[in-house]
Order: sequence, then structure tokens, then C-alpha cells
Amino acid sequence: MSQNERTFIAVKPDGVQRGLVPEILSRFWNKGYKLVAIKLTLANEDLLREHYADLTSKPFFPSLLSYMLSGPVLATVWEGKDVVKQGRVLLGATNPLASAPGTIRGDFAVDMGRNIIHGSDSVESAEKEIGLWFKKEELVDYKPTLTSWIYE
Ligand code: ADP
Repeated sequence: MSQNERTFIAVKPDGVQRGLVPEILSRFWNKGYKLVAIKLTLANEDLLREHYADLTSKPFFPSLLSYMLSGPVLATVWEGKDVVKQGRVLLGATNPLASAPGTIRGDFAVDMGRNIIHGSDSVESAEKEIGLWFKKEELVDYKPTLTSWIYE
């Protein structure tokens, strides 16, 4: 399994405003994943229509748009073994009420429309989302000193 797999994780406006950024970064960091890119940014409608292309016809799409435009988003890229799938495990289910305690949504959220965090659901969507939110030069190439303590 590749240690170079990448996923796109974004703290949504409610997660940023609620001060959950340090907690969320810690969970990925403490697990052993490598931070490759990070920026606080305001989304725009065009970006969100591409990001959520498969949801534009859903009845909740207009409220999803205004939710995601309601404040800054912390966009991040993480790298490591099985990080796409494991990232979704760390997040919990889309519906926070169906998320187990110990997951980010299970610990910190109640409503689907305020579920504080996004994570790519496949390697393919991760590639697409990383390309949408980041320029190539914003992805940082470095070797964390802890690597040999995390991978055997
Ligand atoms: P996920 O973010 O877990 O991958 P989806 O891609 O299905 O879930 O949906 C994107 C986002 O749209 C969700 O995280 C949630 O904020 C919102 N959403 C999804 N389904 C609903 C719904 N039925 N009602 C309100 N908001 C929803």
C-alpha cells in the first residue's frame, strides 16, 4: 500500500468558527499522516459547483452552497498509507447523529448541514479536489523526520 496516497480534507466554515481547527489537525497529525498543503480560504460558487458536481440537483444543494460560503474554509492535503479511507473513518458518517463517538463528526456535530468537515471519498475524487483547491506549487515536498517511527 502506497505511503504517497493523498486526500483532501477541509474544515468547513462552522468548524473554523467553532475553533475546531487545532483539534482536527491534531487527529490527522497524531495518527501519523503528513501535512502536504494547508490554507485558510474563502470558497466561491464556481469552485463549490465543481467540488460538489454530483450534488447540484439535490434539494439541499442551495443550503449547502450558502453554508460553504458562510465563512472561511481550512483546506488541507494529507499524505500517507490508506489516507483516503482512513480519513473518512476519522471523520465519521455524513450524518453526525449516525457517527460513532471518537470520530470528528460524532464528537463535535449534530446536523448534516453543519457537519464541520469534508473528506474525499475516493482516490479519484481526492485528485480532483486537490487540483480544484490547490495550485501545484502549494503542495509541499519534504520528508518528515518522524517517518521511520510511523512506518516499519
Ligand atoms: P460527505 O460530505 O460525507 O462526503 P456527501 O458528499 O453526500 O457527504 O454530501 C456533501 C455534504 O452535503 C455533506 O457533508 C453535508 O454537509 C451535505 N449534505 C449531504 N446530504 C445532506 C442532506 N440530506 N441534508 C442536508 N445536507 C446534506
